[in-house]
Amino acid sequence: MLDDVNFNGRKVLVRVDFNVPLNAELEITDDARIRAALPTIKKVLNDGGAVIAMSHLGRPKDGPENKFSLAHIVDTLATLSEATVHFSSDCIGSEAEHKAEEVAPGEILLLENLRFHPEEKAGDEAFAQKLASLGDYYVNDAFGTAHRAHASTAVMAKFFPGNKSFGYLMAKELDNAEKVLSDPGRPFTAIVGGAKVSDKLLILEKLMNIADNILIGGGMSYTFIKAKHGNIGNSLCEDERLDLTTRLMEMAEEKGVKLMLPEDSVIANDFSNSAETGICKSNDIPEGWMGLDIGPDATEDYRKVIAESKTVLWNGPMGVFEMSNFANGTRETAMAVAEATDNGAFSLIGGGDSASAIKKFDLVDRVSYVSTGGGALLEYFEGKELPGVAAINA
Ligand code: AMP
Repeated sequence: MLDDVNFNGRKVLVRVDFNVPLNAELEITDDARIRAALPTIKKVLNDGGAVIAMSHLGRPKDGPENKFSLAHIVDTLATLSEATVHFSSDCIGSEAEHKAEEVAPGEILLLENLRFHPEEKAGDEAFAQKLASLGDYYVNDAFGTAHRAHASTAVMAKFFPGNKSFGYLMAKELDNAEKVLSDPGRPFTAIVGGAKVSDKLLILEKLMNIADNILIGGGMSYTFIKAKHGNIGNSLCEDERLDLTTRLMEMAEEKGVKLMLPEDSVIANDFSNSAETGICKSNDIPEGWMGLDIGPDATEDYRKVIAESKTVLWNGPMGVFEMSNFANGTRETAMAVAEATDNGAFSLIGGGDSASAIKKFDLVDRVSYVSTGGGALLEYFEGKELPGVAAINA
C-alpha cells in the first residue's frame, strides 16, 4: 500500500497513463488521465520524494514522432501538479540518467514516450533494467495498460523486490472491480453493448455466473437476433458467431439469467447521421435498413430493469451514440444508471466508449465509478490475471 511508505528522499519511478487525446495543434483535449494520476504523484512529492514519470502516448510505429511526444504534456502536468516538471527527450540513456540524478525532492521528471523504443512493447528485460536503474522505488498506476506485459508495466517490477506498489488509481480500479465481482448487491444487472459480439464473448460467459440480468444493446444485438431467426436487414452481424450466441442464450436459460435483447430498434437506410430513419421491431428490419440504436420500447424495458438493480456494470454503448440521431438509447440508459445510483445502487462504468458516453452526457458525477481502463477492466472481469497486477503482487 502506498500509504504505508514514506517517500522522503526517494526517486520514485511511477508508470502512469498519460495517453491523452491531442488535437491537430497538439493540444490536450481531455486531461482526465493526467488528473487521475495526481493523487499518487502528490503523495510522493508531499512526502519529499521525486517522481520519475513514465508513460506511452499513442501508437508510434518506427521510433520517435513529434505528434506522440510527451513534451506536449509537460505544461499541463506542471499546472495540475503545481510542481516543477523536467523533461528527458529519451526515456533511457545518458540524458535520462543525468536528469534522474538531478531531479530534486518535490519535483517531477517526465520521460519521453516509452513506445519510441520497440523494446517497451516487447517486454525487453534489458530495456526494463535501464528504466529501473533511474529510480529506487516502482509504482504502477497505469490501469489502462495493466493487461499488457510490457517492460514498464510488468517486467521492470522484478528489479524492485520489496520496493513496489500499486498507485492509488490502480488500487481504486481493482477495488471497484472487486466490489462487483465478489459480493455484488442484488439484483446485479450487466449492460453490454458495442459493435462486435466477438469482443464481448468471454465477459458474457463470465457474467452468466454472476449477473441476474444481462441487457444487450448496440451492434452486437443483431447477431443474437439473427441467431433467433429474426430479420435484421443490413444491420451489423457476425455470421461466424451465430452458434456461439445461440449457446450464450441457452446458457442464460440454464443458469436462470434474464438475458434481454432490444425489442425494437431505431433503423436507418445508411450508416450516416443524415440517413432516413424509422423505428421497427428488432427482428423485423427491412432489407436495405440497419439498426443503429435501441428503440423506445427497448429503452423503457431496460430502464425498468436498471431502476430495480442494486449493482450495475455497463460496458459498450447501446447504439452509434457518436451520431446524434442514434444517441438516444445510450443517453437514456446512462440516465437510468444515474437514477439507479441516486437510489443507492453501485454502478461501475467500464472504460472505453461507455466512459466517453457518460462524459458526453455529463453524468460522471452521478455514477459510482467510471473506469479508466477499457480492455484491462474487461480482461479482469473475464478472470484473466493482468500482468501489471501480477508483477506487483509477485
Ligand atoms: P465497442 O468498442 O465494441 O464497445 O464498440 C463501440 C462502437 O460500437 C461505437 O463506436 C458505436 O458507434 C458502435 N455501435 C454501437 N451500436 C452500433 C450499431 N447498432 N451498429 C453499428 N455500430 C454500432
